[in-house]
Amino acid sequence: MGESTARKLGEAALEAGISLSLHAPYFINLANPDPDSLKKTTGYILASCRAADWMGARRVVIHTGALMKRSRREALDIAKVSMAEVLRIWEGEGYSHIALCPETMGKINQLGDLTEVLELCQTDGRLIPCVDFGHLYARTLGALTGPAACEAILDEMEAALGPERAGQFHSHFSQIEFTPNGGEKCHRTFADNGGFGPDPAPLMAAVARRGWSPTFICESAGTQEQDALTMKALYRGAL
Ligand SMILES: [Zn+2]
Repeated sequence: MGESTARKLGEAALEAGISLSLHAPYFINLANPDPDSLKKTTGYILASCRAADWMGARRVVIHTGALMKRSRREALDIAKVSMAEVLRIWEGEGYSHIALCPETMGKINQLGDLTEVLELCQTDGRLIPCVDFGHLYARTLGALTGPAACEAILDEMEAALGPERAGQFHSHFSQIEFTPNGGEKCHRTFADNGGFGPDPAPLMAAVARRGWSPTFICESAGTQEQDALTMKALYRGAL
């Protein structure tokens, strides 16, 4: 996105009372130890921060990466080293007012289950987790839905980051179709009648009860604004 488009978008959003966040390119891979790959990853993240700055967005979501046939532990340790380097350059270039948000991923062979993303965020107090509830549901093959699962997810975040930081989390929500081997297959909508999850209601209730103020980005397949309003109504109802 060019500067003038980004600035126009930012002005329109400000006028409409909408806060913006930005999703960095999908091919970022923090778990690749190759120096050239890290250079590219850092470049994509800085370019994303620059565009976010133009449009007044204060959060940039980044994917954690692929396992590349390594163990989850090895991949996460590499990602932590990469993240430290990214943060060093991010701060040096003057972007520390734009928070980086590592995202939980939907495919099982991707790095980034909840525990991994929280461990990554624990390396620096300025990182904000982007918890994608549809992804968590897909990679656990439908286990993470319902009131108990929501409480467990939020409890784990609070234990890892403390209540204040956990309460400001960034988030994606959509109902997701998954396959038994891979996890995430595709995003669905609240109107789809395939029994897709997760259910937004218990999550909205749990967040309201805790008095947290996360940012939810609705990622339904084509009905983002309708389903976002449904989630807003559920949250307001729970309040
Ligand atoms: Zn994403």
